[in-house]
Amino acid sequence: MAKKIAAGNWKMNGTSASLSELETLTKSHSTCDCAIVICPPAPLLFRAANLTQDSAINIGAQDCHTDQSGAFTGDVAAHMIADTGASYVIVGHSERREAYAERNRDVRNKAEAARDAGLTAIVCLGESLEDREADNTLDIIGGQLAGSVPNGATADTVVIAYEPIWAIGTGKVPTLDQIIQVHDFIRGELCARFGTETGNQISLLYGGSVKASNAAEIFKAKNVDGALVGGASLQASDFSPIIDALN
Ligand code: PGA
Repeated sequence: MAKKIAAGNWKMNGTSASLSELETLTKSHSTCDCAIVICPPAPLLFRAANLTQDSAINIGAQDCHTDQSGAFTGDVAAHMIADTGASYVIVGHSERREAYAERNRDVRNKAEAARDAGLTAIVCLGESLEDREADNTLDIIGGQLAGSVPNGATADTVVIAYEPIWAIGTGKVPTLDQIIQVHDFIRGELCARFGTETGNQISLLYGGSVKASNAAEIFKAKNVDGALVGGASLQASDFSPIIDALN
């Protein structure tokens, strides 16, 4: 069985004042059957990890570099993220694939750097509206999955997040059948590549306009093991009911 995960991606939102949201989450979810992960902006990682040290909340970054060190102004290496006390990192989010022209190969290299630093990589995949309308969704997802996930992936090193680009921040959510189709496909591909045991253990998250009002419905799908949540993860009062829906 795959671990259930409620992950929040704060994107470029939040300052030290937002750490109070984390405090609220640690208090209201002192025990949890699922893993709770919050990915704040990089400047908050160290304090966020300190604050949540003895709690059910895990901290993650939103990106990492492929290299360990060097002349990469503005970038952050995976081991630096681990050094803050964080344990996850999002790689290949569609916003980065688009704004920084990240290719599948880059995403895989980042996931490998994350693994080598002892982090779990949340590898994001997702089709554009154009791809979906042209009925290319499974081809696109299959290609991204094959190209972005490192060989030898395990449930400890990789989590997959299926995030249709057209559903991110738009309030549009695929139908449950559409989510089921893609998640079942991803599960099948993982089992074929990594063996049934590992393939079934890797957590598959859905992301894109998840909120308290639709989470329970989305979590009904067999191969949906949780969610990667953007906007509705910024306030503890919005994110808490999503965590509860997973339990
Ligand atoms: P959203 O973002 O929940 O605001 O749609 C999801 C994401 O980009 O991870």
